[in-house]
Amino acid sequence: MSLEQIEKEIINCQRCNLATNRTKIVFGTGNSEAQIMLIGEGPGKDEDLQGLPFIGKAGQLLDKILAAAEIKRQDVYIANIVKCRPPSNRVPNRQEAAACLPWLWQQIEIIQPQIIVLLGSTALKNLIKPDALITKLRGQWLESKSGIKIMPTYHPAALLRDPARKKPVWEDFQKIRDEYKKIINTN
Ligand code: SF4
Repeated sequence: MSLEQIEKEIINCQRCNLATNRTKIVFGTGNSEAQIMLIGEGPGKDEDLQGLPFIGKAGQLLDKILAAAEIKRQDVYIANIVKCRPPSNRVPNRQEAAACLPWLWQQIEIIQPQIIVLLGSTALKNLIKPDALITKLRGQWLESKSGIKIMPTYHPAALLRDPARKKPVWEDFQKIRDEYKKIINTN
């Protein structure tokens, strides 16, 4: 199975009620052999219209953060917990996330990243545990059973609402940069 094959399969997905209002499915984009995968919450208005993740204001900020950390966007893979836009950008509920996660698991299995960056609370709660708090866990390396290093940090949209979060996010991305450099230098 390849990413292209999954993308073809997902095109008519009706597994949850977010299918009703979507314009385009936002499957994910980037390098299929990425060492780093970034996982956000779900598509916003711009993403829904264009079918690409992180292209609005939050995406532009993410681009700047990646550039500052010397990580090229074309070298990473970016996806979300849900692939269809929740109405009014609300947080996807547990049922919607659970319905959509099998698609993401398949993407992770194919890409086999060495680092996963969880952007925000929704990614953290759905991929680590439902009661995990981003304020407590951000900046700390976690590890999956298969040895993927996982770094939770704030979602770029949270930085737009609260600029005080820029400093901790930069600290987190410095750790990500250092780990990423170690990985590419040993490959
Ligand atoms: S959000 Fe995911 S599970 Fe729900 S309809 Fe869209 S692709 Fe399918």
